[in-house]
Amino acid sequence: MTRFFWLREDSTVQAHTNGSLNAAHKWGLPGLAGCPGCGETWASSGHQYPAVDLSVLPEQSAFLKARPEPFTEFSRLRELVRPLAPPGALLPPGTTFGPLVGTASGRFGSFAWLGNSLLLIRHEELERLREEGIRGLLGARTALRFRQKDAPELLELQLDPRGQLHADCMPPDLPPRCATCGRLGFRRPDEPILDAASLPADVDLFRVGNFATMIVGTERFMETVRRLELDGVSFRELPTR
Ligand SMILES: [Zn+2]
Repeated sequence: MTRFFWLREDSTVQAHTNGSLNAAHKWGLPGLAGCPGCGETWASSGHQYPAVDLSVLPEQSAFLKARPEPFTEFSRLRELVRPLAPPGALLPPGTTFGPLVGTASGRFGSFAWLGNSLLLIRHEELERLREEGIRGLLGARTALRFRQKDAPELLELQLDPRGQLHADCMPPDLPPRCATCGRLGFRRPDEPILDAASLPADVDLFRVGNFATMIVGTERFMETVRRLELDGVSFRELPTR
């Protein structure tokens, strides 16, 4: 039985790294203004496709500025993007695409975070993980401007939302997912539990399908990171049921 671990920034590493990033994805779907189904105005987080290039779209300028749009316009823009996105991607409001654009400075560890749900890795460390047989790693190029010379080559990991949190760790009175916009509004549980039957067997690193800001790795991923002495991530085991 595979064990699964929740990845977060390793705050003990910040003592000897001082890397800082000020960046955002080049493109994004707008947020949704006043869903005709549930009435909510919202945008998701954690749905990020840095390897998806929207520059081929004649209307790419419609994806440059974050703002809410009514459902019909949001849906129209989403259908323009869908053929470029991975098959089956949910593409909720606020989904982002393309390289991280911005500035970077300082020293980075093997892994770097932007916020707590965007994970970058040095190119050479990504290659080492692949050589060790870690599956499902897609490193997308970034467009970061470094202040210093001999800057690291940081790639952003594009991680598909897969699997689910178990219903047992979610609020019992949680309203069902909105049939129109797909919104399922709940805070991250204090004690997350993964739904064992839903978890992918073909990748070692993924986002949680119904809580995409959570990045989860397999036991094999955790052990390989430790054996290679890669720094910048901490691991917390999540129970499965
Ligand atoms: Zn809705």
